[in-house]
Amino acid sequence: MADRDTAIRRTAAFVAGIAFGAWMAQPDTPSLSIAGAAYAQEAEVSPTMVRDRNRDAYYPNTEDLAPDEMRVIACGTGMPTTRAAQAAACFLVELGNGDKFLFDIGSGSAERISSLQIPYNFLDKIFIGHLHTDHFGALHDIFIGGALMGRNVPLKVWGPSGATPELGTAHALEGMMQMLTWDMAGRAGNVDFRGYRLEVNEFDYKLENEVIYEENGVVIRTFPAIHSIDGAVSYALEWNDLKFVFSSDTYPNKWFIEYAKDADLAIHECFIAVPDLVNKMRFSPESALLVGTQVHTAPEAFGKVMSDIQPRLAVAYHFFNDFDTGTAVYERIRKTYDGPLSMADDFMAWNVTKEDIRVRMAVTEERTWAPPLGAPAEPPTLDDRTAFAEQVGIDIADIGFSEFTKSGYWDVDDALRPIFKEASEALGRDFPYPGDE
Ligand SMILES: [Zn+2]
Ligand SMILES: [Zn+2]
Repeated sequence: MADRDTAIRRTAAFVAGIAFGAWMAQPDTPSLSIAGAAYAQEAEVSPTMVRDRNRDAYYPNTEDLAPDEMRVIACGTGMPTTRAAQAAACFLVELGNGDKFLFDIGSGSAERISSLQIPYNFLDKIFIGHLHTDHFGALHDIFIGGALMGRNVPLKVWGPSGATPELGTAHALEGMMQMLTWDMAGRAGNVDFRGYRLEVNEFDYKLENEVIYEENGVVIRTFPAIHSIDGAVSYALEWNDLKFVFSSDTYPNKWFIEYAKDADLAIHECFIAVPDLVNKMRFSPESALLVGTQVHTAPEAFGKVMSDIQPRLAVAYHFFNDFDTGTAVYERIRKTYDGPLSMADDFMAWNVTKEDIRVRMAVTEERTWAPPLGAPAEPPTLDDRTAFAEQVGIDIADIGFSEFTKSGYWDVDDALRPIFKEASEALGRDFPYPGDE
């Protein structure tokens, strides 16, 4: 193994991300990273030391993208069993033209996304690789939660067909919308309802590198993956001569080898080392060998894939990236791959240009409220409730409270009326108390 690799490995034992940009830092494009900061060029520093420094962490809402720049942020890198440190699969791609795309929306990822404080109107395009919950389990969270915090455009979702209609994305999301009937019925008429619409674009899972999205200079292609059963896919996004590739889940396959070539950022699943499936996850050895090598991509196989496609930066995800398990994954990858590598963790951020790839961890706000609105909110209208009732085939009279429930009201009108009076006085227009109109 090369000396360079040994040096990288030493650092990687302690940090999750590795920037190779720092090894070739240019004076005008300093490439700071957690791993390589010591090697970066000194930048001009203000006398107070609080401004004008190159940051070694990414703070959301503080950096515009350059017109030719791509930023990718991991909003989920873990496993189906989510934990506080790692949500399940989700990667956000932001482009210098203002476009944003989500690839997978696994369980737990919606709260990671919220920490980035991005107006939800910008988070209206989601591409699902397959229908395991660790890849789409937070869809209903961002669908409802995003609309409640300001998305007032439909949420558009792309996903593959399956071997039968029941195994496809459209069927799954029809089921999700059915699940949300009570939720939606109660919101219609109380809030701006424009964001509570889902647009589903199901495409043939057998498409081989065909375009499923093309707009504003962005082209997204899909190709088959081999995972669980038929109906899993991977994606490639190309824009401005930059290429992002996301495997979602797959066993190494000929399509990824062919269509991920020349990727600037190639994200591929990489599973926990087989011994840790036994030691940490309590799998039987038989099961560990099957799941760790045949169902998923073992680290050694991940390395072989990356050695073949040679991306500018390889990203491994889909393992618990801890001090005692991440190193085993890393060492096994290094048996078959010695190129640039990030061991993904939640909130890792990659800024990609033709000249440089900068890897940092995002520092995020946990107590997030609504981000700024992408477009002004509208007052609620009961027409939305009528339309919803018609759409789902429920009598409008059944959406609301029965005489039985109404009989339970306890009178707090004297406490609530002043709130309406307060709003009327503060805003200079009349807000009548419900029932008074
Ligand atoms: Zn899966
Ligand atoms: Zn998965």
